[in-house]
Amino acid sequence: MEFRMIRLVAMAALISASLSANASASQPDIDQLLGRAEAERSRSPDRLAASLAQLDELTAVASPTQKRRVQLLHAYQLVVTGKYQAATKLALSIYDESPEIPIKFRAALLVANSAAITRDFSLGLRHLEHAMGMIDNVPDAELRQQAYLVAAVLYNQYGQFTLGQHYAELLLEQDASPRNHCIAQQVRVEASFGLGTHLEDDSIAVAAIAECAAQNEPIPSNLMRGYLARRWASRGQTERAISLLQEHLAEVEATRYPWLIGEFHSQLAEYHLATGDLEASKQHAEITLKRGDKNSYLMPLVSAHRVLYEIALKNSDLATALDEYRQYAEADKARLDEVKAREFAFQLSRHELQQKNQSIELLQRQNDVLRLQQDLSKKSAQNNQLLTAMLLMILGVGAYWAYKVKRVQMMFRKQAQVDSLTGISNRGHFREEAEAHLARSKAANREAALVLLDLDNFKHINDRHGHATGDWVLKQVANACRAACREGDLFGRLGGEEFAILTCGGDLQAAERIAQQCRENLAAIDTTSIDHDQPITASFGCATTRLCGHGFENLFMHADRAMYRAKAEGRDRVCAHEERPVLVRAQAHA
Ligand code: GH3
Ligand code: MG
Ligand code: MG
Repeated sequence: MEFRMIRLVAMAALISASLSANASASQPDIDQLLGRAEAERSRSPDRLAASLAQLDELTAVASPTQKRRVQLLHAYQLVVTGKYQAATKLALSIYDESPEIPIKFRAALLVANSAAITRDFSLGLRHLEHAMGMIDNVPDAELRQQAYLVAAVLYNQYGQFTLGQHYAELLLEQDASPRNHCIAQQVRVEASFGLGTHLEDDSIAVAAIAECAAQNEPIPSNLMRGYLARRWASRGQTERAISLLQEHLAEVEATRYPWLIGEFHSQLAEYHLATGDLEASKQHAEITLKRGDKNSYLMPLVSAHRVLYEIALKNSDLATALDEYRQYAEADKARLDEVKAREFAFQLSRHELQQKNQSIELLQRQNDVLRLQQDLSKKSAQNNQLLTAMLLMILGVGAYWAYKVKRVQMMFRKQAQVDSLTGISNRGHFREEAEAHLARSKAANREAALVLLDLDNFKHINDRHGHATGDWVLKQVANACRAACREGDLFGRLGGEEFAILTCGGDLQAAERIAQQCRENLAAIDTTSIDHDQPITASFGCATTRLCGHGFENLFMHADRAMYRAKAEGRDRVCAHEERPVLVRAQAHA
């Protein structure tokens, strides 16, 4: 079924809905003209033509958006002047080129409309789907309502009454204008008739007819009367159907809407035939054929030929009957072809839409996978950073601990080597270093000498002044003897009040000089602070490698002996291990 007029009415409102939302402040004249043309277009095709002529002259200074709005008006003008093919072509190019959603949306709806009229069903449906896909991004509520209306009308026209009903109901849920509300009611009633629902309940249709009639809308109200008449006739209430149609026939004629006129006359022809009024039936059937457009209302055409065939048959006019039957069969075949073509177009567009949705879903899945991969690599990069930080921390802590341990080790080693009271080498360390030094001297064939010293009557200092004072004296002694050493000499405390110096190079005389220097330094220790009236003295023993060899034990033994000799000879003196010839001579003397 076709509702070209209704579609045009809907389209007019659709395109006149405020496109001025896109108005640019820099081009006020063009925008004003556009606004006026868009508003006037549904009222007067002539005025639209005049406005368009004006706008065309301003093309050179118009913005791209303004140019597209002008083009859309041109497409609309092509529709109202019946140039549907050209309108479709122009609207298609606007749809393809327009980045503005409202313009693109209107262009898609215009294609949907004009393509449906030219029976390019696939193209029309595809663009209807495109438009409906965009509808949530269309900010203008009025524009969305108009689109629901167009969708409802077109889906019904494609025989997709469930969708028609859905969009009609969407519109009825909105705060629609009285006119749109009436048309939506009509489309919903049409869908319910198409679906065969509410068969016994006329109240919805009756209320909708009353609503549209009250608004002086003859096309929708009479379309619904047509459905109601058909329903009554199918229930056997033929007379009631005839009187309803007859009562409003003049009103229908006044609309000059061929489909509606054809529908009323073809129904009247059918029902008069049923009641046996062949004359009236024939008259209405002939009016149907005469006033009809063969391409635009196939169903009344089929019905009219069938009625004429049956009348001819009843009149035994077989030649006419055969001719009418042939025409009836042709028209019915054309109608069925069209029904099939629309159904096929719908299935095709659904299939395309499904495919598109599937590929969109596939792309979304791929995107999801890519996003997950990105997240994963980001996470693993973060993990790597964390791992690196942890490793660095572990390394840092390890290095710190190694350093600490080393320091403690060094501290212990030092503690093990140093005499805690005087701060000089203890016995063990002194011996260790002395042995290494002697080995090097031996290798270099160099002489070295050992000086041993033992404080004189030290026990006496302890006993007299206390152990602490004794300690103080030991420290002073260590300082005094260190001052007597030369660079490279080894110095240590062997224990108690005994010290040792290993000279680095130098002969016995050099060792004796060092020992003498120590003696002098000891004597110089100021003991007034400890209230000791005696000078600090020590007995010294010296020995050299030249006479004793480079072995530590032997060298030590001879120095020790010399030191004891010094004690024995009266203390506070230096004795040296004498050369064997001297010893031999002394023995000789003895
Ligand atoms: P001599 O002239 O014969 O060597 O007499 P002396 O008193 O020095 O010798 P002796 O071996 O009898 O006494 C050594 C004293 O040194 C005994 C001990 O109490 C004291 N002494 C040993 N080590 C320390 C110490 O670290 N501090 C103090 N204050 N006294 C110590
Ligand atoms: Mg001693
Ligand atoms: Mg002593």
